[in-house]
Amino acid sequence: MRTETRQISIIGGGLAGALLAALLAQRGWRVEVYERRGDPRVEGYAGGRSINLALAERGLHALRQAGADRDVLKQAVMMRGRFVHPLQGEPGLQRYGRDDSEVIWSINRGELNIVLLNTAESYGAHLHFDHRLDKVDFDAGLATFHHHEVETVRPFHALVGADGAGSTLRGQIDKVLPLGERTEWLDHGYKELEIPPAANGDFRIEPNALHIWPRGHYMCIALPNDERTFTVTLFMPHAGVWPSFETVPDADAAQTLFEREFPDTLPLIPELRKDFDDNPVGSLATLYLDRWHLDGRAVLIGDAAHAMVPFHGQGMNCAFEDCVALAEHLEANASLAAAFAAFEAQRKPDAEAIQQMALENYIEMRDKVDDADFLLQRQLELALQERHPGRFVPHYAMVSFMRIPYSVALQRSEVQREILIDATRGKDSLEGIDWNVVDAEVLAKLEPLA
Ligand SMILES: Cc1cc2nc3c(=O)[nH]c(=O)nc-3n(C[C@H](O)[C@H](O)[C@H](O)COP(=O)(O)OP(=O)(O)OC[C@H]3O[C@@H](n4cnc5c(N)ncnc54)[C@H](O)[C@@H]3O)c2cc1C
Repeated sequence: MRTETRQISIIGGGLAGALLAALLAQRGWRVEVYERRGDPRVEGYAGGRSINLALAERGLHALRQAGADRDVLKQAVMMRGRFVHPLQGEPGLQRYGRDDSEVIWSINRGELNIVLLNTAESYGAHLHFDHRLDKVDFDAGLATFHHHEVETVRPFHALVGADGAGSTLRGQIDKVLPLGERTEWLDHGYKELEIPPAANGDFRIEPNALHIWPRGHYMCIALPNDERTFTVTLFMPHAGVWPSFETVPDADAAQTLFEREFPDTLPLIPELRKDFDDNPVGSLATLYLDRWHLDGRAVLIGDAAHAMVPFHGQGMNCAFEDCVALAEHLEANASLAAAFAAFEAQRKPDAEAIQQMALENYIEMRDKVDDADFLLQRQLELALQERHPGRFVPHYAMVSFMRIPYSVALQRSEVQREILIDATRGKDSLEGIDWNVVDAEVLAKLEPLA
């Protein structure tokens, strides 16, 4: 049981900050949220990166805890699987799960943020917009914000850093307690483009899917939006090869790239040239820290603690799991210091596991999803799921449809991948599989999942 005051100040009113505010205010905490941007409900959402996001079970579960799931799902589009568009051959849907109970959802970042801010406020959280954290005096318990050109100093009891990958709070903690920060930049970046609705107002391509155009060392993906558009993201290296953002620097080069490599998208993206010139190239990185908290005075969550590359669509889902875990530890521990330590001990191995799986999934998405060996392994994965329910659970299902710790999903996925590769080596169908051997391996290497 808690003996300290139930008061907390959250830096960042983005996805994690707003959700944590809701979860804590709901439990009776006094919550102050300081967000650098203006109120998106008044001024419109001031973008940033990725217009839409894939929401999976981990994130949905957290939204249910805050009572925000219904409002979010009203604006979401269901994605049943990946719709793969090879350069040669027929495009087609590869389902993620067994049926429509195993799907993910595409949601607009701004709409999601607004639902979460409204939810937090409805539970009594105090939201302060246009407050950019500049510096913190941890000993005095004072935080300095930049507010409409004016310096404003606010007292705090404890701070939560939900201020994203470039976290200012992280930098401030690091000055008094080195956090062992290490950023690994991906040598690939991204650019967003748009598929508008068709002339009749409908979606131009299958709406209930995450589309992928895999091309080896680069790819395009497209996620649906509820206003019947798709946000297309082109991922490719920054430099050094063709194509890269260095060798495809402008609209003319982009036109040539798309004519050659993504010809079926040309009629879908009428503003390709404009989008390519107008939209910036985004960078991607994985952030590792040795520690996430400063005794009972500050803790980091979400991207501020463990930013990851977006290829498993789990950064926000993981950040939302953080919020649920932190709220639970804050309720269960007598002191903030104990709660922050318990939170870090629980979540750090899981964050590192999903960071690793996110990096691995880039290769799967851009290079494997139209590969015959991969498709055969996927067939075997589904067959083994049928033969060993609750024991052999496909990798994607463990990450996206379940809430088992990411570290467990990673460890089991590695064992399963070996079984799949060994059993399909040199085969082009499941005909020649020695089921006795494969079943025995599954039983020997995988315990049933709780
Ligand atoms: C291209 C791309 C695609 C992605 N796709 C997915 C996906 O499909 N699914 C998924 O789960 N994740 C996805 N992610 C990851 C996801 O965007 C992040 O993991 C998620 O936004 C993290 O939430 P957060 O609240 O920790 O940080 P953020 O969303 O970055 O929020 C941080 C907030 O803090 C505020 N802030 C920053 N500095 C200060 C300051 N000094 N003072 C006050 N406020 C401050 C910011 O304005 C912002 O509102 C994607 C990421 C990218 C780049």
